[in-house]
Amino acid sequence: VAGNPAEQPRPTEIWVLISWGKMRRAHGLRPVAAIPHFLGLLGLLLFGAGVAGAVLVGHAQACKAATIAKDARLAGDAKRTRFIADLSKKVDVTLFSLDDPYRLIIDLPDVSFQMPTGIGKTPRGLVTGFRYGLYAPGKSRIVLDVSGPFLVDKSFVLDARDGQPARLVVDLVPTSRASFLAKRQANAEAAPKPPPSPADATPPGGKPVVVLDPGHGGIDPGTTSADGVEEKNVVLAFAKLLRKKLEATGKFTILMTRDTDTYITLPDRVAFAQKHHASLFLSIHADSFPKSVARGATVFTLSEHASDEEAKELATQENLSDTLAGFQPAKAPDGAVANILIDLAQRETQNRSIVFASSIISKLEAQEVRLHSDVPRSAGFVVLKSADVPSVLLELGYLSDPDDEKLLLSQSWRENTADAVTRAVEGYFQKRVAARPF
Ligand SMILES: [Zn+2]
Repeated sequence: VAGNPAEQPRPTEIWVLISWGKMRRAHGLRPVAAIPHFLGLLGLLLFGAGVAGAVLVGHAQACKAATIAKDARLAGDAKRTRFIADLSKKVDVTLFSLDDPYRLIIDLPDVSFQMPTGIGKTPRGLVTGFRYGLYAPGKSRIVLDVSGPFLVDKSFVLDARDGQPARLVVDLVPTSRASFLAKRQANAEAAPKPPPSPADATPPGGKPVVVLDPGHGGIDPGTTSADGVEEKNVVLAFAKLLRKKLEATGKFTILMTRDTDTYITLPDRVAFAQKHHASLFLSIHADSFPKSVARGATVFTLSEHASDEEAKELATQENLSDTLAGFQPAKAPDGAVANILIDLAQRETQNRSIVFASSIISKLEAQEVRLHSDVPRSAGFVVLKSADVPSVLLELGYLSDPDDEKLLLSQSWRENTADAVTRAVEGYFQKRVAARPF
């Protein structure tokens, strides 16, 4: 908005002082959001993480009604880029930066995003785009993609005033990679850890535990169809239906890594299955391949060397999830997949994964569900890396194909496909029992 003093980046910033003074009076202590300089934020986090935590908790309790984020925009240029978000009221924020690729993460308390559709896709200045959404239950996040090394020169939250909404303002300036890394290193210790897996204390009760893992969620929509259908919603709806059908057999305990629109990191999905001593792990996704006509379901297992170029590309894309959601993926040394594959137990797990994958394919065929590939494919999917839980990734179909998209959204296709997968799970366990020496 032209002419609004808070919208345009300026060399000096009096708003900071006004805002800071007000917040100090309101809360008695210095809220994280009021720190004008990133260095100040780092200092507070490093030397007083406990105090900062207490302030955040206290503030969160004082402001129970969810804040609404109504709009956001970029201003400025490559010398100074300003990000502005309109909020229904002032909130405390935590900032940290990540590299490979360069990102600024803005964590907020429970914020309801009611942004105009399609925003965040137009680059401006240093920012190539931004995303927002839940990254854990009740925890919201905005991720800015940045074209190069940067520093947060200013960040503050303005009160609502004169009919204007409350505003979160962050100024980015370019810096050298060395300086970015020095700051990021200091920040790394204070950065919030990924949230723990959703605890589900359901006792197995003697039945095998099957973990269903709807891909993506919250801040990470996954792939999106031409008319805006998001993978995260398609796969969650399918997983819920599949859970219902598997539970109806009375043979299994079914747990889901998520059953709401929230993000879970890839390692946390794996850890969830291990913690619950899962006998089987099924990650559910929908694919996109706009380059050519591709339709139908594909079933994947883990392998060091991808079975084909498309599988390799897909695994790379799916493995980017944590990066897109604003987490630093665990840096695995080269050949990490190879290392876990060496283990004999892992080989056995792999064999079982392939048995399950083949079982899914034959049951899908029997139910006349269209297949993209009638043999299991394989690649280095991070989410399939449980050493001891047979794990399979099912791509239901292609959101890039309008006909597949219709199927993915249709109740009858979902019912039929969920029936097929239910039979595959039953078939897998029947074989396991039959193979067990008594
Ligand atoms: Zn996916």
